[in-house]
Amino acid sequence: DCDLTDLLALLLKSAQAIAQERNLELITDLPENLPLTKANLKALREVLSNIIDNALKYTPAGGKIWIQAGQKKANFQGIAISDTGPGIPAEDLEHLGERHYRGVQAQTEIPGTGLGIAIAKQLIEQMQGEIEVFSPAFNSKITSLQHPGTTFIIWLPEVKDW
Ligand code: ATP
Ligand code: MG
Repeated sequence: DCDLTDLLALLLKSAQAIAQERNLELITDLPENLPLTKANLKALREVLSNIIDNALKYTPAGGKIWIQAGQKKANFQGIAISDTGPGIPAEDLEHLGERHYRGVQAQTEIPGTGLGIAIAKQLIEQMQGEIEVFSPAFNSKITSLQHPGTTFIIWLPEVKDW
């Protein structure tokens, strides 16, 4: 079983430093007493840092990034990472998770290897979790903003205490 609190604190600390450097506002919502999840800490760290890394690098300066833990659906709890970046166009969305696939825009402008999401997907599947992506962003807190944006939700199986 895995306690998310420390892991998230660690990841947010380094994300905050990069956000500041890139002039992005990082808004976090981490409820106390998160339920335990079934996850391999090391793998989960890799997953979250890949998704957060994308939000930090694809969102233009002046934008916002939200990291919200404590999302719920039956038997899962989720961590949502949303941004006010360019969003992921439909033609890229269908290829997301293919090794070395890079978005049309990213190919020309922003360096990367196209492996981050492929790795995240594989690790999440090993944990019997799920990864969801919404673009344009759907998050209720940001629907009022006029931008496409991207939201990833990492769903982890909840621990049942029978
Ligand atoms: P790296 O291996 O360094 O992570 P990458 O970021 O290009 O390279 P992925 O993380 O797998 O690779 O992302 C795949 C593609 O999805 C990116 O090239 C980019 O086009 C698109 N993408 C991912 N996250 C976002 C985001 N938050 N906003 C906009 N586009 C994104
Ligand atoms: Mg990436």
